[in-house]
Amino acid sequence: MKILVINAGSSSIKYQLIDMTTELPLSSGIVERIGLEEGTLTHKTFIDGIENKVSETFPIPNHTVGLERVAELLTDKKIGVITDPSEIQAVGHRLVHGGEAFTKTILITNDVKAKVKELFPLAPLHNPANLTGVEVAEKVFSHASQIGVFDTAFHQTMPEVAFRYAIPNEMYEKMGIRKYGFHGTSHKYVSEKANEYLGKKETNIITIHIGNGASIAAVKNGACVDTSMGLGPLNGLIMGTRSGDIDPSIIFYLVEQKGYSIEEVSNVLNKKSGMVGLTGNFDMRDIQKHLLNGDVNAELSYKMYAYRIKQYIGNYTAAMNGLDAIIFTAGIGENDSLVRKLVCENMEFFGIEIDKEKNAARSKDIREINSEAAKTKILVIPTNEELEIARQTFELLK
Ligand code: AMP
Repeated sequence: MKILVINAGSSSIKYQLIDMTTELPLSSGIVERIGLEEGTLTHKTFIDGIENKVSETFPIPNHTVGLERVAELLTDKKIGVITDPSEIQAVGHRLVHGGEAFTKTILITNDVKAKVKELFPLAPLHNPANLTGVEVAEKVFSHASQIGVFDTAFHQTMPEVAFRYAIPNEMYEKMGIRKYGFHGTSHKYVSEKANEYLGKKETNIITIHIGNGASIAAVKNGACVDTSMGLGPLNGLIMGTRSGDIDPSIIFYLVEQKGYSIEEVSNVLNKKSGMVGLTGNFDMRDIQKHLLNGDVNAELSYKMYAYRIKQYIGNYTAAMNGLDAIIFTAGIGENDSLVRKLVCENMEFFGIEIDKEKNAARSKDIREINSEAAKTKILVIPTNEELEIARQTFELLK
């Protein structure tokens, strides 16, 4: 079976065509700058291990035009990887917010679309774009089943004691204000890989997904019991441009005493805080360069970044009353050995002790970087959200 995985944003569509017999991509790409004067399409194919890349610039007024061009490239006589769009039996869609309505992967029907629409207020930046992706794929790949994989679904196993906020009950009951969590597809994928690696299912695992967005999850016996993002993706760890945890009084102070509008506060906390607020850069590679050149600000921000993760490790070890492994994943978790070192420093109490050389080594596979004697495993596991979406799509249709 061939499955197309789509992640539609407001002005972009990321996609990957995966052959489920090998679980390898046949093609992947991104349509960007949809709706602007000139759009771009970067399309890669992987045939017999050889990668080919095509880049195009042309007006892409809407998502339909972009996805139709992707379908043409996938079936192109010269560079195509399939002969007809009908070879794609299913399209797996990344859908960000499933609220409490969606606890697992689902076949997208009109009812499902209506429910996703109802959830727009909970994810105003993501759900509308995701739904556009679905509607466009229904037109362009009309033979295919459309399947929705929600970012929030994996976290729906959290107990009430973890997902409720101590605010008036009716705000939960009538307005749905609670912790939902995000990056669920990634936390699920790497925690399952970790369990396979450890050779057991009864485990206490902490998954640390640190990319441009970042979240951490406590996974007990394969089920999520707590996570750091909340109603929206602003809470928890320090991120590229988002603040993570702050005292909510800061918001009132800015609005009431300093004359900020609520839009300005939202912009500051979502786009101008985190590492970019602390250092002027959001990419850890740039910040690390400054740190190595002796920039004290860069050093402080790295320490703050790691300190927040340490705090959550303590928090979740307590929640699970145990810790078998911590998992580093996503752009920073997989590549930034300095962050891993700082997180694992002075954590012997938790059985965490890193091996310097193993931490510095590089690999695209799962690897163990703890010292021989350490009680807790430290694993680096490359995430693969597209494959996880394809797998869940495949499982649903089997
Ligand atoms: P992601 O959102 O998972 O794609 O992660 C993107 C982020 O990973 C970038 O913004 C960088 O901060 C970080 N990153 C990627 N490669 C490296 C690297 N080699 N060293 C440090 N950070 C990296």
